[in-house]
Amino acid sequence: MAGKKGSSPKIHTYFKVEGDKVSRLRKLCVRCGKGVYMSEHKDRRTCGKCTDTEFIQKNNL
Ligand SMILES: [Zn+2]
Repeated sequence: MAGKKGSSPKIHTYFKVEGDKVSRLRKLCVRCGKGVYMSEHKDRRTCGKCTDTEFIQKNNL
């Protein structure tokens, strides 16, 4: 067992907890419901479980 590292640095961005801020940043998946959060992207939100994608509309600019 040598030559392969099992750590992935990206996992740190997935668990971003800053007090009660996390509940405002993440949105629950409408399909999966409780406990399943959408991951935030620049122009969309995606669910890691059902891969549902929700595009963020920018009409309020
Ligand atoms: Zn989902």
